[in-house]
Amino acid sequence: MNKKKRINLLSGLKEFEVEFLENEEMSAYSSIKIGGLTDLIIFPKNETELISVVNLLKANLCGYYIIGRGTNILFKDARISLPVISFKKFNISLSENKKNESETILEAGAGMSLSKILNYAIKNGIGGCEFFYGIPGTAGGAVRMNAGSKESIIGNIIDAIEIITDEGIKHIIEKNDLKFSYRSLDIGAIKGNYFITKAYLKLYKSSESKVKENIEVFKKRKSSQPLGEFSLGCIFKNPPDVSAGKIIEEIGFKGFSKGGACVSEKHANFIVNKGGAKPDDIMSLIKNIQEKALSHKGIKLNTEIKII
Ligand SMILES: Cc1cc2nc3c(=O)[nH]c(=O)nc-3n(C[C@H](O)[C@H](O)[C@H](O)COP(=O)(O)OP(=O)(O)OC[C@H]3O[C@@H](n4cnc5c(N)ncnc54)[C@H](O)[C@@H]3O)c2cc1C
Repeated sequence: MNKKKRINLLSGLKEFEVEFLENEEMSAYSSIKIGGLTDLIIFPKNETELISVVNLLKANLCGYYIIGRGTNILFKDARISLPVISFKKFNISLSENKKNESETILEAGAGMSLSKILNYAIKNGIGGCEFFYGIPGTAGGAVRMNAGSKESIIGNIIDAIEIITDEGIKHIIEKNDLKFSYRSLDIGAIKGNYFITKAYLKLYKSSESKVKENIEVFKKRKSSQPLGEFSLGCIFKNPPDVSAGKIIEEIGFKGFSKGGACVSEKHANFIVNKGGAKPDDIMSLIKNIQEKALSHKGIKLNTEIKII
């Protein structure tokens, strides 16, 4: 970012009273604890602030990156060239709108964590989002990534979402106009970049004990993942009909290290930061795995994580 743009953005952010930090280490904003320096990270807290930020960036012809809790993002560069908009503090709210005896809608602000939504669901005996168990990250990030598991994906329980476009326009998009696919969302006719600001989750009335019982299957699954370590979850998407973890194991990468990065002994589709891992260590492991999967198995492994 050039000096003039930076000065303009900083004075605009101060004028609109939007929180920001300069020269931040992005390792603090990614769950794998790796990342370079960013000139500017911005923390809008509500729609008004977000629209001011969007207009400011547009007026200064400045690109940007969007992040939630960074649980699926690898920051690969030593210097992040564009401002980062963080949703960590954005609209951390959750409210319930009971439809009838059996159905209920949870309205989650984009910055709300999936774990807090799940806790609310447990306490209030609401079923349908048990698969959130062990998935870190925000509601906004989960919708963008269509997060989930074998059993369910967030796309299955979305009733509608609210977004703000890069033109600063707000839209509510109903489920029928959203196309969710494997770790991906297409919002249809609306073009350009967009910010997810709210998710409406269509869930059902159950009981606390039943919800807790349903969670057991996800607890069991998660026990085979290195949850206490610094990672980004699964690095690669599963190819059709086979698990990426199994392929990585078969081609001999389980436990393989490069610098401070290691292919997890517990789950081969996780790369963990054992301490001091550099972006290049992760990128090199990814490349080596992809090359060997192709040469030995004829399988192309595509990354699930976002690399920016
Ligand atoms: C230990 C561990 C376990 C995991 N297990 C699972 C799992 O079981 N299933 C699964 O699907 N994932 C899993 N993940 C991956 C990750 O948690 C999910 O993809 C999560 O939904 C990402 O949310 P986030 O807020 O961290 O988004 P980020 O990682 O910050 O961002 C992900 C993408 O979403 C975009 N984005 C974020 N917020 C917004 C917004 N408000 N508007 C528009 N775009 C936005 C970003 O630009 C980026 O492209 C796991 C990760 C870890 C570390």
